This record gives sequence, structure tokens and C-alpha cells, in this order.
Amino acid sequence: MTIAPSAAARAFLDGPHRLLIGGEWVEGEGRGIAVENPARGEIIAEVRAASLDQLDQAVSAARSALHGDWSRLGGRDRGVILDRFADLLEARADLIGEVMTLDNGSPLLSSRMVVQHLAAELFRYYAGWASKIAGESFQPSLTARPTLDIMVATTRDPIGVVGAIVPWNAPPGMMALKMAPALAAGCTLVLKTAELAPLVGELFAQLWIEAGGPAGAFNLIHGHGEDMGAAMAAHPGIDKIAFTGSTAVGRRIVEAATGNLKKVSLELGGKSPVIVFPDADLDAVIPAAAMACYLSTGQQCMAGSRLFLHADIHDRVVEGVATFARTLKVGDGLDPATVLGPMISARQKARVLDYIDIAKAEGATAALDSATFDGPGHFVGPVLLTGVSPGMRIEQEEVFGPVLSAIRFDDEDTMVDAVNGTPYGLSGSVWTRDIARALRVAKRVDSGQVGINIHAAMSAETPFGGNRQSGWGREFGREGLDGYLKTKAISINLGPKP
Ligand code: NAD
Repeated sequence: MTIAPSAAARAFLDGPHRLLIGGEWVEGEGRGIAVENPARGEIIAEVRAASLDQLDQAVSAARSALHGDWSRLGGRDRGVILDRFADLLEARADLIGEVMTLDNGSPLLSSRMVVQHLAAELFRYYAGWASKIAGESFQPSLTARPTLDIMVATTRDPIGVVGAIVPWNAPPGMMALKMAPALAAGCTLVLKTAELAPLVGELFAQLWIEAGGPAGAFNLIHGHGEDMGAAMAAHPGIDKIAFTGSTAVGRRIVEAATGNLKKVSLELGGKSPVIVFPDADLDAVIPAAAMACYLSTGQQCMAGSRLFLHADIHDRVVEGVATFARTLKVGDGLDPATVLGPMISARQKARVLDYIDIAKAEGATAALDSATFDGPGHFVGPVLLTGVSPGMRIEQEEVFGPVLSAIRFDDEDTMVDAVNGTPYGLSGSVWTRDIARALRVAKRVDSGQVGINIHAAMSAETPFGGNRQSGWGREFGREGLDGYLKTKAISINLGPKP
């Protein structure tokens, strides 16, 4: 089914496409980026990357705003701007969602949910925090100066200029996750969009102007990772890199950041487990386990791509998930019936198909194999593999596609060892009606978040991040704000103790 973009989306795609630097729309002076709609394999827009000079200009603009207009606003007024931004996101959710769909293939319903239930919620939540950032004061026990009356006051100050680097899989959510806490904290930003899905960034820049955001506090640039992203990671004028993307690139960013020892937060990849015990409510487990992996066609960091099934219910759940997955319509995200969109690129499709071959060569069997699709677009349908055992590459490595591996277990300890036996530790879920077992296993799963009878329950208030090679630091919630603040302790000599 072919559905044309709306008139508003068409007008946006036709351009002009520009960067926002120091409050001015400017033409990119770097490489051209042809933006492809992955559902059709067609080029829908041309944007231009920033040049390295333009990166310097964006960093200077962010530095000026940090010490100028943005810092002069109090927390309350920063919050008002963030709240207005949330209002605008909600009002434009249809257009932003549609552009996300055209840009990265995500089904329209999911795209709108990312705008309304992730991005707008994050701006609202951190708008509230902007006026509540405070230090503390106390009397230290200064035993070396027992006669002096000393008071310590701490301040919580913005960490500085933030370089935000985001992936293509959910641009509105990923951008909000950097912008909202950083701006609430009083930081300023240079945000680089992902070269595979750069368009929504321009809509965010437009909303920043409409929300009354001061020039230079938020700067938007396009660029490729290997040159522009790398230049940001090494830039001496950037105080912190906030990165979401792959573990391999996260490692490169850490290396590049050593020049000025800038702070780095990393939200990276995952290989998350969904663990099902025999007493679980299987009617709830089956659709949830399928969608834990297949949501966004597997292109989400929290994908529950390893399904640990107790031997007693293994076959029933495998059959149920395969039957359920057959009902999921794969297609163009603009079609309202579509549940699973395409892979982001021909390269990603080839990578996913490779992993399926590798798994079969390692001894896995496909209980469902809808991988192959004819026609334009980079589609891969849902695949469910059985006979997967711990240590196989398909069990260890992030595929970022709709490939679910079922792993049979009998013994809880052995299963927990396997769950924690990959380099990743991002997410996971435990499914059982036995509360003691649920909590015991949830505590033993080494990951940043675990659901009990729910997978990937994200909210603006709930801290989110990875253990081991899934990341550094936490986003969302109060901890998400802390990552953009630094503490100063001021010791005040009040004179001799009375
Ligand atoms: P990616 O690492 O290839 O790219 C992410 C961003 O990094 C892009 O903007 C890219 O331009 C930039 N980049 C690439 N090379 C760079 C370099 N050398 N220096 C600086 N920047 C560079 O990841 P992707 O393919 O866009 O996204 C998929 C990955 O992101 C998956 O591994 C997924 O698990 C992860 N992800 C994690 C989370 C999370 O919250 N933990 C969320 C979404 C995606």
C-alpha cells in the first residue's frame, strides 16, 4: 500500500534544510547528506552537514549563551521555556511523528507516541526541575581548626557546553533526553543529528525559536559520525558529551574525549533478557515477549532479544510467540495498519540477514522465518530462533533487528549466569506470579533496569542507563539532571567559635 506524505510533511521535505547556529538559520557548508525513506528506498530530502568552522561557531555561540542570555534566566524562566517547548511538541505531534516515519521508517503510531509520550513528557518533567536545583549548607567538623566557626555552602552549577550526539532510531525521544535535562540545569547545547535520520532535528530547532529559547542556548548541526561526531568528541570547547548509540562508537568517544578530559555520558547497546518461569501468566507473556523484541522491528536498545524459557513452558511460548508474530503487519510506516517498519538502511538489513545465517550455521532453528521480503524498502520480517544456547554469537551480540532467540533453561542459577554472560547490561524482565522469585531474580540481573511482569516500562521519572558495556551514567529522573550539574563547595570562615 502506497500512501503519500501529507501536504505539511511534503512542504517540510522540500526544504530549505538548514542548521541553527547562534539563533540564525544557516546553510550547512559541509558534505551533502541524502536522506532516504527506508520503506521505499527513495531519497526524500537533501541536507548539508556543518563544516568544522561551523562546529566552532556553534560551540562559541553555546559558550556565549552559557555566560549570557541563558545564564541570566533563572530556573523558573528556563522551566517556562521548556514547558512551552512541550506544548509545541504536543501541538505538532502529527507533523513531527510523520517526519520521523518518513526519515527512519517507524510506524506512524509509534512515531507519534515517541513525540507525545516520551519527548513532550521529558520536557514537562525537566521544566519542573529547573526551578528546584539547589545546593545545601552545613557545619563541617573541621577537627584541625577546632576554634573556628566554619559554614559550608554548596552550589549546583551547569556543567557547561554540552555536545549531544544522538542515534537515528527515535530522534525526538533521543534529542529530548539530552536537551531537556541539560537546558533545565542551565547548560547550553550543540546537538548533532544522526546522518541516517536528521530531519526531526530541524523541527526541534524551529520549536526552540517558537518557544522563545534564547539564541545560542540550543544549536543544531547535521554531520556524519566519523568526522563531525569525532570532532565534537575531541573539541576543547565542549565540556561534556552526552551520547546515545552503539557500544563501539561509545568507546571511540571516550578515547577522543581525553584531550580536555570532558565529561562523557553513554547510553549504548543491549542484549536484554526476557525470563519466563512456568507459573507466569502466559496469555500476557506471549504478546509481551514478542513485542519486547519486535517493537521498532528490533531497532531499539532495550529489545528483549533473548527469551529465556523454562523447559516446562518452552514449547508453548515458542508456538504462541510465532503465531502472534505472524499477525504483525510489516510495511510502510505511513500505512496505519503497519506494526513493523523497515530496517533503517540496506546495510542494516544485510547485517540482520547475516546474523540469521550465522545463527543457523551455529545450530539454531527458525520456528518462524519471515525475514525475506520482495520489493523496494529494507524490510526484514520477524524471526524466532530456537536451539540457541549461551555463548553462540546470536546470543552474545546486538543484532538491532527483529531476531528473537529462545533459550531453554531448567535451573535458575545457570540461567542467571547466562543472562549476565554478555558484555551488555541494559534492560530485562522477569515473568512469574511468585513475588519472592520475581524479586530474587530481578535483583540478580545485572542491568540498569528490570521489569517484573512488564518489559521496558520507561517514564520520565524512572532512571535509565546501562551497566557494563551498555553505558556510563543514568538518564531520566533526577539522576538524569545530575549528569549536567557540578557541585562547588564554598567554605566560609565566620570567625572564632563563640
Ligand atoms: P551509532 O553509534 O552508529 O551512531 C550514533 C551516533 O553517533 C550518530 O549520530 C553518529 O553520527 C555518531 N557517530 C558515529 N561515529 C562516531 C564517532 N566516531 N564519533 C562520534 N560520533 C559518532 O549508532 P546507531 O546505529 O545510530 O544507533 C544504534 C545503536 O544505538 C545501537 O547499538 C543501540 O543499542 C544504541 N541505542 C542505545 C540507546 C540507549 O538508550 N541505551 C537508545 C537508542 C539506541
